[in-house]
Amino acid sequence: MADDSFRLDGKVAVVTGAGQGIGQACALALGRVGATVAVTGLNNRFADLDKVCADIVTAGGWAEAFALDVSDVSSIKPTFDFILSKLGSIDVLVNNAGVRVNGPSLGISESEWDWVQAVNLKGTFFCCQAAAAHMSTHDGGRIINIASQMVDSAAPERAAYIASKGGIVALTKTLAVEWAHQGIQVNAVGPGPTNTPMTASADSTASAQVQARSPIGRRLEPSEVANPVVFLASPASGAITGHHLMVDGGWTAS
Ligand code: NAP
Repeated sequence: MADDSFRLDGKVAVVTGAGQGIGQACALALGRVGATVAVTGLNNRFADLDKVCADIVTAGGWAEAFALDVSDVSSIKPTFDFILSKLGSIDVLVNNAGVRVNGPSLGISESEWDWVQAVNLKGTFFCCQAAAAHMSTHDGGRIINIASQMVDSAAPERAAYIASKGGIVALTKTLAVEWAHQGIQVNAVGPGPTNTPMTASADSTASAQVQARSPIGRRLEPSEVANPVVFLASPASGAITGHHLMVDGGWTAS
């Protein structure tokens, strides 16, 4: 008999920054286990969002694309309300949209710092708020925030990025304990280096460093991050909340 505790039939999942990389993989994986997926991303990426939706529909699921710039806080609640009006519920939120600025901390500008925090941390919080406003009055829900393995294993020249991801982990724990009695589970996933457009510019030296440093000796594939996200969205993880699940090939264990 099939184990339904990993399925999301009848649930609606919202994924931010879902046009490529880990967000795309999360959207596809959620669609595969039966969720209806709101595939959201920047307006100028609508062709990519539509393609993700088409792939989900071809695989037998249902998805719709929505424009959402998570750094534009005034647009978040109206967009979530629009998703609700179109899809009927919001049961799962994956806060995946993220940006990074690499460079010496002595040279980071205020605008670079603000941009990274606005997308990664502020955007994540206000998407949590918009989703929880619905979940708290409709049987709860699941929120999964994409943090980073670097929260526990820092690297130089990534101050704005790692600070934002550390903030996401602290936010995850805070919202988990605040919203537990409303049936909302809030967890984070901490990917290690993963093959996505964000890391596509890594040169051979960086790739060799990953190979030498990572116990599994390679970058992850986006689907290897998406599957644990599905687990945290599913009934199978009903007792887990406030957790930062490392998905890093053993990096932080070594
Ligand atoms: P990616 O390929 O650059 O994808 C990030 C997505 O977020 C892109 O589609 C991007 O759109 C979108 N985005 C950027 N700003 C946005 C905004 N203001 N509103 C909505 N969407 C926005 O990166 P990725 O590697 O898949 O990363 C996904 C998440 O995993 C990020 O939170 C990242 O920090 C985290 N992560 C990645 C790695 C890794 O090694 N790849 C490791 C640890 C954590 P545009 O491309 O149009 O800007």
